[in-house]
Order: sequence, then C-alpha cells, then structure tokens
Amino acid sequence: MSGRLTPKALSVGLIAFIFLVCVTLVTAIAWQLKQSADERLMNATIAVSNIVRASEQQAQDTLRQAGSILSNLAERVENDKLDAEQRIRLFKLMANNVEAVDGIQGLFIYNKNGDWVVNSFTSETVAKNNSDRSYFIYHKNHPDSAIHIGQVILSRTTGEMIIPVSRRTQYPDGSFSGVVLATLPVAYFQNFFERLDVDKQGVILLALNNGDLLARRPMIDALMTTNIAKGELFSRYLIKNDGGTAILTSIVDGVERVYAYSRIQGLPIVVAAGLSLDSVFATWWAYVCQASIMVMLIIIVLTSLGFLFYRQIQRLLVAEEELRLAQHDLEHIAETDSLTGLPNRRCFDATLAQEWSRASRTESYVTLILIDIDWFKQYNDHYGHVLGDECLRQIAQLIGKNINRPADLAARYGGEEFVILLPGTDLAGAVKIAEQVRSAIEAAKIEHRGSTAGIVTISAGVASNQLDGVIEATDLLGKADSLLYFAKKMGRNRVEHQSWEVLET
Ligand code: GH3
Ligand code: MG
Ligand code: MG
Repeated sequence: MSGRLTPKALSVGLIAFIFLVCVTLVTAIAWQLKQSADERLMNATIAVSNIVRASEQQAQDTLRQAGSILSNLAERVENDKLDAEQRIRLFKLMANNVEAVDGIQGLFIYNKNGDWVVNSFTSETVAKNNSDRSYFIYHKNHPDSAIHIGQVILSRTTGEMIIPVSRRTQYPDGSFSGVVLATLPVAYFQNFFERLDVDKQGVILLALNNGDLLARRPMIDALMTTNIAKGELFSRYLIKNDGGTAILTSIVDGVERVYAYSRIQGLPIVVAAGLSLDSVFATWWAYVCQASIMVMLIIIVLTSLGFLFYRQIQRLLVAEEELRLAQHDLEHIAETDSLTGLPNRRCFDATLAQEWSRASRTESYVTLILIDIDWFKQYNDHYGHVLGDECLRQIAQLIGKNINRPADLAARYGGEEFVILLPGTDLAGAVKIAEQVRSAIEAAKIEHRGSTAGIVTISAGVASNQLDGVIEATDLLGKADSLLYFAKKMGRNRVEHQSWEVLET
C-alpha cells in the first residue's frame, strides 16, 4: 500500500484539510480585522490628541500675550504719574491691545482700593469698585508680581463668562498699589473649537478644574451649568494624570468615545476632545460585514466541494469493496467444480505444484489418492445422466467428509474421478484415509444395478513421493493412476498402493 492513500485516509485527510483551510481563513481575517480596528482606534486617538494639543497651544499663546501686556501696563502704572493725559494714552494703548489680541476681551487698571482707574472699554471715568473680586484680594495679600489666573467669573462689564488674568502693581517701597487685569472670554475658546474637525457625535469641551463645564462643542445651552466632576474623566483619569487618552462613556449624552484630555498649563482649565466609537468604527463595521460574508461564502463553497469529493470517495470505497468481493467470487468460481462444489482440476494442479515444491524443500511427504467410480458408465446407462450427476455429488460429499486436516485437498480430477492430496502424510496414513473413503462410500449403499456389487463403489490408487521412480509431481500422478488401474484389474472396490510389479517380485 506504500505511496497510495487508502480511501478512508483520503476522506479523513480531505475533511482535515478543509477544516484547516477554514480555520486558517477565519483566523487570518479575524487577525486582519483586529489590526484594522486597532489602527482606526490609534488614528482616532492621534486625531483627538492633536485637537487637544491645538486647543492647549491656543490657550497658552493667548495667556502669554496677556502676561506680556499686563507686565507692560504694570511697568507704566508703577513708573508714570497717572494724570488725566496719561490715562487717555493708557486707554488708547489698552484698547489697541484688546483690538490686536484675539483672546483678550478687556484690560483694566485698579488702584489700591479696587477703584477703576483705566479700562479698555471707555476713556470716561467709571465709578466702579472691584475690591471684592478674589483676584484683587489675592494680589493685595501676595507681594509677588507673577501673573495670576483666577477662576471663571461673570464679567460685570459685558455679562460674559471670563477668565481673569491679573498682576499686582506696587509703589517703589514695595507696598500694594493696585492690580492690572486682562479678561479672556470663554466664548473665544468655544469659537476656536467650532473650527476644529470632529464628527457629528464628536465633542470638544472646556471645563474648570472643579468640573464646571465652560465650553462645549456641540453647544447645548442647558449643559453649560453642568458640573462633570463626577464623570470618569475627572473622577478617574484627571486625578492621576494631567493628560492622556481614554475610552469612556459620557455622563452628559451617554455616547461612548475615545478621548484625549489635558490640563492647560497655566490655566485652571481642562480641555478634552472625543470622537464617538460609532463613527470611528462605522466603516470598519461595514468592512467586517463584507469580510464575514466573503468568508462565509468561501467556507460554503469549500465545504460543498469537500462534501462532493467526500461522497465520490465513499462511492469509490463501495465500488472497490464490491469489486473485491466480485474478484473473490470469481477466484472461487474459477477454482471450484460447479457440479460437486469441490475444488476443480485447475485448483488441484496449482496446489499440487505448490505442495510438491514445499515438500522438496522441507523433504517431507506428499501423498496422493486417485479415485475412480466403478462401473459408472453403466450407472449412467441405467439411471441416466441426471441421476449420474446426483451420484457424483453424493460421492463428492462423502469424500469431503473424510478429509479433516486443513492442508488436505479433495478435488474433482475430471469425469467421475476424484483426487485427494495429502501433504505431510506418508503412504500408510494415506492408505488409511483411502480405505476410510472407500468403506464410507460402500457403507452409503447407493443403489447401482449395473454393478456386480449392486451398490456404488470406488477404486483408488495411492502414491507417495516415498516410492521409487517418483521424481516429479507428474510421476506421482502417473503412479497413482497405474495403481488405480491395478485396483480395477484386481476386481474394483479396493485401494492399491503397491503395483503388481512389486507384488510379483
Ligand atoms: P470402470 O469401473 O472401469 O471405471 O468403468 P467405468 O464405466 O466407470 O468406466 P470409465 O471410468 O471409463 O467411465 C467413465 C464414464 O463416466 C463415462 C461417462 O459416462 C461417465 N461420466 C464422466 N463424467 C461424467 C459426468 O460428469 N456426469 C455423468 N453423469 N457421467 C459422467
Ligand atoms: Mg474413469
Ligand atoms: Mg470409472
């Protein structure tokens, strides 16, 4: 069987192969989808991080400009006399600065009592006092001249939400002389967000450090008084890091997004941007659907083809088995005599040749009994051929019954002659068997009116390779034949194993 798979192994191999191809295909596609999902998420993370960085940059630029303007104003307040003329000049300078810098909404100079001295809105004297503002109180109590950024407040001038950026001014002796203030409108950031690229479900938000929402895109008025400190962004992420990325579900609208977030350096503000996972994965899901349908189709085609092949192999298997059985039957038919059911002459010839060469190799005995029915011509003449055939069948059965060892072979030699091959049996043993067969047939008392005995009898010649002159297998047959002839001569119904030449000597 070497080099050729059995049909069963082929079927198992086919099923295993198709299974392996399907598993490999599904694994490869799943891996590819996973890679593609990771890539999309990564790109979304990069996009939101860029938005946050741009927002932060914009806030810091504004802050830096406000700081530089305030330092300049403080320097003038501290070194110039604030007479009416100087105030007008300062008003113009401040108005120009507000005009020139986008993110600054107003500039103010307060004296040590918190009274409005100059502001960028009007050159008129304004009788207002801001000494209650927390930034004012802060500078009064802190001698350093660093820029201070306060919590978001409602502007008393415009009513807008503003971030106060302020600096202390002082007399030459270092005592408190007042405050210079720049106001940054929260709306400025909101407008900046509107220009950034996020999807419909995306969000950009600005919140105070305490979680109060300042600006949000998309803008929802009702939300602007919301505090999002309880949301995961504040309660989980901003507690640990000043910036980063995360996937969270918004407590405001329940949308799951990938967020980037950061505390803006120098401002009490947090900026965050998020892209909804639905939009990030929208095309990916379409791709998943297409890939799944494709994989399913391939699997269906593969398994159908596999099933067809499998069925063909099964058919081949059945056909092969039928052929094997038919061949077996043919071999049996070719070696069996159809009338008696005994092995035929062809089978006998082949077995004799085999046994003869075996006996020659092993120097063992081969003995042969040749049997011929007595007066059988007369039997046919008397009872007819049909009964003659029946008689032949009966004799064959009786011969068969007396052959016991597996190696022994009883065959129909031709006509009404039978032969028994007895490998490994000596002459004496064979004579016993021949005698047994003869007496069994005699004892069967098959009526034969054409015979002198009145019943069917046989004569037999027994020859063995022990005998002189038996050199080839044909010699054995020849010897048995002549002994049979001798038995006939000696009166029939007898077994002969010694020729008359021997008897005569
Ligand atoms: P003998 O005792 O000398 O053997 O006499 P015999 O009549 O038996 O002579 P022989 O052995 O020559 O007889 C052969 C006869 O056997 C010829 C034929 O009529 C008969 N015979 C041979 N083959 C068959 C067979 O297949 N069927 C039948 N019914 N008869 C057969
Ligand atoms: Mg004969
Ligand atoms: Mg005969």
